[in-house]
Amino acid sequence: MNLIMFGPPGGGKGTYSSRISERYGIPHVATGDIFRREVSEGSDLGKKIKGYLDRGELVPDEVVNEVVERRLSEEDCRDGFILDGYPRTLPQAEALDEMAKIDLVIVLEVSEEVIINRLSNRRICRRCGEIYNLRSMPPKREGVCDKCGGELYQREDDRPEVIRNRLEEYRERTQPLIEFYRRRNIVREIVVREEKPVDEVMRMIYSALESSLPAEV
Ligand SMILES: [Zn+2]
Repeated sequence: MNLIMFGPPGGGKGTYSSRISERYGIPHVATGDIFRREVSEGSDLGKKIKGYLDRGELVPDEVVNEVVERRLSEEDCRDGFILDGYPRTLPQAEALDEMAKIDLVIVLEVSEEVIINRLSNRRICRRCGEIYNLRSMPPKREGVCDKCGGELYQREDDRPEVIRNRLEEYRERTQPLIEFYRRRNIVREIVVREEKPVDEVMRMIYSALESSLPAEV
């Protein structure tokens, strides 16, 4: 079962993809994670990627495609995978068609209110990088990291006005891709209008998956 997950920043797609990965025993292939690992290992590819990121440029399609193709040809992807963060452009989607047949595309529709609530309450430790949420996972002492005592701060990206721009950018970038797959009738939308426990969203996702896929899955 070859899946793609699309979702807005702060929409929870990383969490949901991991859950799908555990349940169906298929790897969660997140291009962001692969890039971070290559960069931290200092591989040739990592150096190349770091160059683009340091210059504030997007990693070009050819490079991303190569990374994904290599990952999908690994043994553990034989029975399927869930892609997170790829494809991001139409040329990438076309390249992906050459690599694998996509069975289903999950599109998370999360209301702007839910996302702004989640992201604007996020705080990060300056010292160790631990992530808190003032509502759902607050630190024991205001503004101080439980783990290392470091100072907590809010990323510039997580301020409501910036979040709105990020969402707008996401919609513009993703819409053509969703249309691309919608023509094949393999898009399933999961609508999250208000804050919901992960398990509840997962039930919606599983039922969308299981009603759309052949019985052998
Ligand atoms: Zn800390």
